[in-house]
Amino acid sequence: MKRHFNIRVNGIVQGVGFRPFIYRLALENNIKGYVLNDTEGVTIEAEGEEKALEKFIKAIRENFPPLAIVQEIKIEEKEVNQFNRFWIEKSRKTEKKITFIPPDTNICKDCLKEFFDPKDRRYHYPFIVCTHCGPRFSIVKDIPYDRANTSMAEFPMCIDCQKEYEDPLNRRFHTQPTACPVCGPKVFLYKKDKTLISEDIEEIVKKVYQYLKEGHIVAIKGVGGYHLACDATKDEPVLKLRERKKRPFKPFALMTGSIEKIEEFLYISPKEREILLSKERPIIILKEKKPIVSKHVAPYLSYIGIMLPYTPFQYLLFSLDKDLILVMTSGNLSEEPICFKDDEAFERLSHIADYFVIYNREIIAHNDDSVMFVIKETPFFIRRSKGFVPAPILVKKPFPVHLFASGGDLKNSFAIAKDKVVILSQYLGDLESPITQRVYKSAVEHFLKVFDVHPEVFISDMHPHYFTTALTDRLAEGKPRIKVQHHHAHIVAVMAEHEIEEPVIGLSFDGTGFGIDRKIWGSEFLIADRKEFKRMGHFSYFMLPGGEKAIKEVWRIGLSLLYQAGLPIDYLPFKENKPLSIILQMLEKKLNCPFACGIGRIFDGVSALLGICETISTEAEAAQKLEETALKTEKFYKIEVEIEENENEIIISTEDLIKKIIELKDKKIPIPEIALSFHLAIIEASFKVAHRIRERSGINKVILNGGAFQNRILLKGLWENLEKAGFEVFLPRKTPLNDGGIALGQIIIGKENLHQL
Ligand SMILES: [Zn+2]
Ligand SMILES: [Zn+2]
Repeated sequence: MKRHFNIRVNGIVQGVGFRPFIYRLALENNIKGYVLNDTEGVTIEAEGEEKALEKFIKAIRENFPPLAIVQEIKIEEKEVNQFNRFWIEKSRKTEKKITFIPPDTNICKDCLKEFFDPKDRRYHYPFIVCTHCGPRFSIVKDIPYDRANTSMAEFPMCIDCQKEYEDPLNRRFHTQPTACPVCGPKVFLYKKDKTLISEDIEEIVKKVYQYLKEGHIVAIKGVGGYHLACDATKDEPVLKLRERKKRPFKPFALMTGSIEKIEEFLYISPKEREILLSKERPIIILKEKKPIVSKHVAPYLSYIGIMLPYTPFQYLLFSLDKDLILVMTSGNLSEEPICFKDDEAFERLSHIADYFVIYNREIIAHNDDSVMFVIKETPFFIRRSKGFVPAPILVKKPFPVHLFASGGDLKNSFAIAKDKVVILSQYLGDLESPITQRVYKSAVEHFLKVFDVHPEVFISDMHPHYFTTALTDRLAEGKPRIKVQHHHAHIVAVMAEHEIEEPVIGLSFDGTGFGIDRKIWGSEFLIADRKEFKRMGHFSYFMLPGGEKAIKEVWRIGLSLLYQAGLPIDYLPFKENKPLSIILQMLEKKLNCPFACGIGRIFDGVSALLGICETISTEAEAAQKLEETALKTEKFYKIEVEIEENENEIIISTEDLIKKIIELKDKKIPIPEIALSFHLAIIEASFKVAHRIRERSGINKVILNGGAFQNRILLKGLWENLEKAGFEVFLPRKTPLNDGGIALGQIIIGKENLHQL
């Protein structure tokens, strides 16, 4: 019997090949009717035999195009209309909704097949794309999203490409960036002095391979910016890259051609495999199995970040040698943003790279590789950028006005909100240098333009000295401002992701966040809802002698912790050539010694006290080394840390923790065992406090978030203990554990506080 269904699909379903997908599906299943884009998404009028309709709807649910995000499918039965064909109806005039731009994704299987098919007209053509793959966000200049508003505008389509573009049955129907060797962009190989070496793709790829094998560093323009590549299996090029990049410790990411190659030297769990092969192609941090890459790739660490190729050029390069393993690190100087403009790349990277592979299509929005790790078969973000940004985070209730939240000053990502979506920006890094600040400002401008957002309320952290706070003041131009506490934002970000409305227990652990008592927080036990929070507990305060300086020279924190615990400074391993008496005087007089309680800072101090790390070259280095030391053993000593509780607060004694660490040191316990005992002490004490808060409040939902949870031992240990005790544990899954996710929390808290403006 013939029936007629009206099917409405909401979510990101426009500009991602949804209508041609429906069109083809209808032809396959002998469905008559039409499909069109409208305000809510895509509407389908479908008539056919019951069985065929069932198959049709099942396929819509299960096989929708890879770049689409389906939020909801509504189906309603209608009178049979006796349609005699299926067609794509012209879009209905719609009220203005948010424009979605898909993230950049890796080349798809079909394109890859053509790319390696000598008979195909796009054989070895590095800009091959289709409706389901390739660059998007990185090439969009303005809305609406069509070719004229992308950096493909300079490349008018040839007749063949045009034909494909207009054919609803073609894989490239309405593929805005489609191109071929006749009409599209080209690749060029240059020496660092800008001498052109070649513009022939076959020659370029062979030469690049040869340079890399000879130990040279090659800058390769990718999707969201330049990579710096070198042979990862040899010490010399890796050390040269470290030296030139001024990056002594921070690990380099790798790329190799196949999952089989990765398996030779790194462990891969099923979830890790799935993510490695996903269309987003993030870097995944994996445990080393066999040392076949240079130890300078990730000095001190037993984990290595790696990704599989995602651009056609990368595929071509790795097809030359199945054993090739390259360092593929962001093309920048340490702590600067990734280079993505060609002139700038030559300027900023010619001290680092010997050769440049560039192409003549502009990157409009830069985007670093995303970074993830997996614990208990659950993936977490360290950096959410290429492949994920600007996919929206959908919320249930609409925002009454457009909002902007500037994020934090470290690992920055900002957010905008309108309708029922929040869009987080790409990774913008640490906003210390003028160049990063400039890039941040232009990224904000770009976002507001391409998503057509006109914020009426501006939200930032409450830190008085943050760049983002000051910039938000300026952007607001007198419009309402809301300031949000850092750790509250961490917790609410997770509430938003998991659609939690009621109060939760929030454990927000990180290095630095400005507290409402004007001290530096970072070991926070909160009871929080979307609007406000109560601070229930924290580790006791200690001083950071010299403030910011102590964060770099972590031995100062070690000294301060000894001082606080009333222990002699002889316990500090790094005493030579240090202004110890001056620091002690500073502590004595509380001069330039801000109070802090961040877990990250405690890790720093203990790392110094155990002789593991004296000063750091990159954020979290001391803590990472301490974790790595703890991973060397399974033996530990139980440390019970004193916890003091009164009506208002529960305080875990940092002094007592330090005393007990030093006791173990006195007993000549091996350092790895002390390091592990320290981790477990933090877990145990934190668990106890969470437990007490549950007893006092009756709340059973607990959220863990903050940069300190990038520590595997801490995250896994606390998570498991809480679950064992019957807590419902929620973790950030769509946003990073670190400050890259706080803009989401800021936006939601801002929304809840709008009525107070
Ligand atoms: Zn494709
Ligand atoms: Zn063409």
